[in-house]
Order: sequence, then structure tokens, then C-alpha cells
Amino acid sequence: MLDQKKYTWQSHPQDFKLIAFGFDDLPCSEKNVKMVVEALAKYEGFATCFVLGENIEKGGKSLLEYVVQYGFELGNHSYSHPRIGKYAYEEIVTELQKTNDLLKREMGITPKWFRPPYLMNNSTVEVACFAVDGMCVVNGLKNSRTNVWYHVEDGGDILRDAVDNAYDGAIYVMHPARSTTAMAMEEICKALYDKGYRFCTVSQLFEYKGIVPLGNKTYHDVNG
Ligand SMILES: [Zn+2]
Repeated sequence: MLDQKKYTWQSHPQDFKLIAFGFDDLPCSEKNVKMVVEALAKYEGFATCFVLGENIEKGGKSLLEYVVQYGFELGNHSYSHPRIGKYAYEEIVTELQKTNDLLKREMGITPKWFRPPYLMNNSTVEVACFAVDGMCVVNGLKNSRTNVWYHVEDGGDILRDAVDNAYDGAIYVMHPARSTTAMAMEEICKALYDKGYRFCTVSQLFEYKGIVPLGNKTYHDVNG
């Protein structure tokens, strides 16, 4: 279900520059998530959604089913959104395993990727992450204007930052719970699409670039 290959560009992805949008904190606002999905679908794109276990338990399963139906990928974003970089190894494993167990039970999906809340990655997080179903840590690009390894949205001009920071193989950190992000998504997709970018899941990005992701490290883009 995840690799529907429904768009023609997917039969020759090497001809395009690729971006993997990563949307954090799902399931969240249904209205915003649907705006994001529809914008991506209009521009023949997919993305990866990073899921909070406790939000599934609060009743968000149907929204996850909706994004999966569109061919989006689900990743792990912890169970309770803690400052996980301060946790001990066993506590990290517990946080991650709870969400993976929920996704397996509720969705029949085993995530391949973990995005730490607040992007708090360190070697303990990386090793613990790989111990849970062989997941890899994936964060995202630096906002060149704010010079921070953080959210694309935080520079104050989301369209400009999403376009100016783009490069082939980039991974983005974005938050559909924010209405500004949801509302900007169609413009962002159009601007990048017109520049020759296509949009895929994190797993597709590695597959299309022919790169096998390694465990025990953090990826900021497809090259490392
Ligand atoms: Zn988050």
C-alpha cells in the first residue's frame, strides 16, 4: 500500500530532484492534515508522517488511515513527546516500542524511521532507536536563514524558506498542526514542483537514490 507508484515520475525518479517532507506530531488537526495531503496529491507527491503513540490512543487512528490510503508513510515520533535526548537507554526504548506496538496493532505497520521530539538526537537515542525494529533516526535540513537545525516554519517566511533551503535529497521537518504550514503547503509544492522537484516518502527517497540507510546514526538528508 505504501508504494503505489501511481504517478509517472515514479517510473524514472532519477530524472528529478527529490524532497522528502516529514510531518510531525500526527495524528493532529484533521482539517490541516487533509489540506497538506491534498496539496501533495495535486503535485503528485507523497510524504512521511511521524506519529505520536498517545495521539493514536486519543482517537487519531482514522486520520492515519486516511494518510496511508494516499500512500504516505508512517514513522515514529515517540509515545509522549518527551525531551528524549535526556532519557536513559531503557526509557528511550520503552517510548519508541510503545508507539511501534500501537502502529503494528492498529495499522499493521512497522515504522522504519524515528524522528526525535525537538530533534534531540544523540548516540544513545540512535542506538536505542536501532534496537527497536531496526529504525533509523531522521531529522532534517538546516534553515539557512535562521541557521538552526530545526523547523522549516521557524524563519517567519515559510514559502521562501521551504524553497530557498531546497536541494536534491533534502528531508524537511514540518508541522501540519500549525495552520500556517497547512495553508502554505500548496504554494510550496507548486514552487518546488516548477523547479523540478518531486516529493516522496523518506523510504522512497533512499530507494530512489539507491542508498541503503544504516542504523545507529542520524540522517539529516539522504546522504547522512
Ligand atoms: Zn514533535
